[in-house]
Amino acid sequence: MTAKQKVVIVGGSLIGACSAFELAAKGADVLVLDASSASATDASFGWINASFFETPEYFALRVEGIAAYHRLQKRLSIPVTWCGGLCWEFEGTAFEAQYNALHAQGYPCKIIERDAIGVLEPDLGKIPDRAIHFTAEGSAEPTMLAERLLSAAVSLGARVARGFHVTGFVQKAGRVVGVQTSEGVFEADQVLVAAGIGTQQLLATLNIKLPMLHRPALVLRTKPIAAKISHILATDFGEVRQLPDGSLMTPASIGHQADASEVLSAHPDVAAEKAMTRLRALFPQIGLDMAAMQLANRPVPKDGFPAVGAVADGLYVATMHSGVTLGALMGDLIAQEILAGPNDQTTPWLSAFRPQRFS
Ligand SMILES: Cc1cc2nc3c(=O)[nH]c(=O)nc-3n(C[C@H](O)[C@H](O)[C@H](O)COP(=O)(O)OP(=O)(O)OC[C@H]3O[C@@H](n4cnc5c(N)ncnc54)[C@H](O)[C@@H]3O)c2cc1C
Repeated sequence: MTAKQKVVIVGGSLIGACSAFELAAKGADVLVLDASSASATDASFGWINASFFETPEYFALRVEGIAAYHRLQKRLSIPVTWCGGLCWEFEGTAFEAQYNALHAQGYPCKIIERDAIGVLEPDLGKIPDRAIHFTAEGSAEPTMLAERLLSAAVSLGARVARGFHVTGFVQKAGRVVGVQTSEGVFEADQVLVAAGIGTQQLLATLNIKLPMLHRPALVLRTKPIAAKISHILATDFGEVRQLPDGSLMTPASIGHQADASEVLSAHPDVAAEKAMTRLRALFPQIGLDMAAMQLANRPVPKDGFPAVGAVADGLYVATMHSGVTLGALMGDLIAQEILAGPNDQTTPWLSAFRPQRFS
């Protein structure tokens, strides 16, 4: 009998958790080490979509990301719902262009008018004249999803260790054979770095280049409201969704998806108050109070696209924005490649997103 491959995963948030589950399901001996530092997953908006994309490869990857959640839901009960999206972010020709581009690709979407929007969202106070209805999109509760996947991985034999900051790698004859922490070395046959914004610094200890952008985001939550919002709303000022406890979540910056700022546009109090004013205009009939704001950095490789693949013997990396959309798919692809190398099922999805493009 061959021994199980021992895989150490650095980072126990969504990408690490998806990978841990799939690796454990394929029989690997998995140890997840997490520093318990800031996690993008904990602040994430949780929208599963392919309606914002820059290249055909990235669009196809995101569409497959949606399909992968449906496959995962057949194996595991996870906090993902197929609520659909209503988008009126753009006006005039930009609205038509967004619809035409997605419709031409076969993406499930249709233009609906004011009355139909009112039927879908009766509690929306300010109803737009028209919106694109993205019928196949969904939402995840990202932190719960990561926890669910980790506990499923644990039930398959994986172990999770929190409070362990990985500072570097151990190499033997040019191969990575473990990770270094202040509490000692953890040995591995393979190491997966799924460390979000910590990825660049960690890889730099081996002189591996994976430049990342600094993309802070401020996200607000209101106190729970009795009104019900069923869809993800991509409004003319940004996204809004209702969380399971009834609160509304919205990024403070306008046009969050395309936000390329390196710093917040204003003091958090000012940005939050402006965002609350915009939100109140959408629900004039409800008294909305802010409950919390969270500052987080999005893990974005320098060109905006995922970086996924082997970077040295025994060392694999996976970091990306839109990790919620891509999580289920990535877990599957990463596990296949770590255990047996790239193959015909993984290469078509990942070849455009290898980290070597930065070296
Ligand atoms: C405000 C916001 C909104 C977003 N909205 C969406 C959205 O609607 N849809 C979507 O698809 N994506 C969205 N994203 C992106 C998505 O949330 C991320 O791509 C995804 O959560 C990344 O998961 P991750 O596991 O790679 O990284 P993270 O969640 O950042 O986790 C990294 C983990 O690594 C650990 N770690 C880091 N360094 C070390 C180290 N040296 N040693 C040990 N552990 C370490 C940290 O403790 C952390 O737990 C959003 C992100 C943000 C911030």
